[in-house]
Amino acid sequence: MTDTEGEDDLSRLASGWRRTEVRRGGVWNVQPVQAAQAVKTYQCPGCNLEIVPGLAHVVAWRGDGVMGDAADISARRHWHSHCWKIT
Ligand SMILES: [Zn+2]
Repeated sequence: MTDTEGEDDLSRLASGWRRTEVRRGGVWNVQPVQAAQAVKTYQCPGCNLEIVPGLAHVVAWRGDGVMGDAADISARRHWHSHCWKIT
């Protein structure tokens, strides 16, 4: 199980607090996920290791995609905070 969040999560992402970063030649929306909100296991694209439940991390999606915000959010990835910073 890697990325099976429901609609509640999507609306939280769409309306929740986020910051914008410029990385890898693009603009990214980055939203922290608190430990209490991390209830699933994800695979980090930075190190290919699991992000275990209960571990605070970040979720990132493109902010400049041509397909629109909803498509970008659905293509979001979860990263270890450390991996996002160094990648
Ligand atoms: Zn990682």
